[in-house]
Amino acid sequence: STVPFVTLNNGLRMPQLGFGVWQVPDDQATEAVGHALDAGYRSIDTAAVYGNEEGTGRALAASGLPREELFVTTKLWNGDQGHDATLRAFDVSLEKLGLDYVDLYLIHWPVPSKDLYIESYKALEKIHADGRAKAIGVSNFTTAHLRRLLEETDVVPVLNQIELHPNFPQAEQRAFHSSHDIHTEAWSPLGQGKGLLDDEELARIAAKHGATAAQVVLRWHLQLGNIVIPKSVTPSRIKENIDVFGFELDDADLEALAELDTDTRLGSHPDHVG
Ligand code: NAD
Repeated sequence: STVPFVTLNNGLRMPQLGFGVWQVPDDQATEAVGHALDAGYRSIDTAAVYGNEEGTGRALAASGLPREELFVTTKLWNGDQGHDATLRAFDVSLEKLGLDYVDLYLIHWPVPSKDLYIESYKALEKIHADGRAKAIGVSNFTTAHLRRLLEETDVVPVLNQIELHPNFPQAEQRAFHSSHDIHTEAWSPLGQGKGLLDDEELARIAAKHGATAAQVVLRWHLQLGNIVIPKSVTPSRIKENIDVFGFELDDADLEALAELDTDTRLGSHPDHVG
């Protein structure tokens, strides 16, 4: 079965499950993204700082898929914040991707210490108005950063991409997003494949559904309404991670998974990055 779409607050449709390429070197990105496109992924999440926009772009071109069937996200790196620097950084990203528009452009981190995220976002609004990003949004914004953004800018971000997995389910942040028509996109949705996927309770639920632990975690996200972008460079796992539309978790499963909340991040607190 195929990946469902969510409709963003500007009417744009985005696949609810995509492919993330953090930590995939540029020379391996072409192959990994190629495997993902073959497996049926149509949404790809990269960023300037990942250093693999060129490799990603090569895979998109080589696929022969019509541009309108692809959904490409990239992100503004912290050192490029500021109005003019943002416009320049966006041009570089487009050039590297070999595209004339992206579907979604995000501010990667708010970097409150520099206090440039409002003027950077205004540059994103210009890029959006010019049609060079079909949608704009943010990443790693806390509710405080979002409140200020909503107050001082015009275009409501379509989504906020944040660290989110069963050990860090971000309930308050998700509720804030919902109340402002902002989608939640989960980064490190599998908890980076570290401790989380070895959990015994997860193994029990997976066995019950004839699924893997990773598939159960991805179902949990999808049933919460999150957009997910799991990463793998292993073809069998790339396929496994998109093969999650043939079963559903029940209420008991969801209650058991809620117990995995340890309120622990893998990454840094957004107030302290940059
Ligand atoms: P993830 O949670 O997707 O985990 C990926 C790792 O899990 C893999 O490297 C592999 O070790 C393991 N794995 C993957 N599939 C598996 C499977 N089926 N079975 C067992 N193990 C499996 O971690 P991630 O890469 O950190 O996050 C996904 C994407 O989110 C990134 O690639 C990137 O696009 C995005 N991201 C964004 C930010 C941000 O600041 N905006 C930060 C981190 C990640």
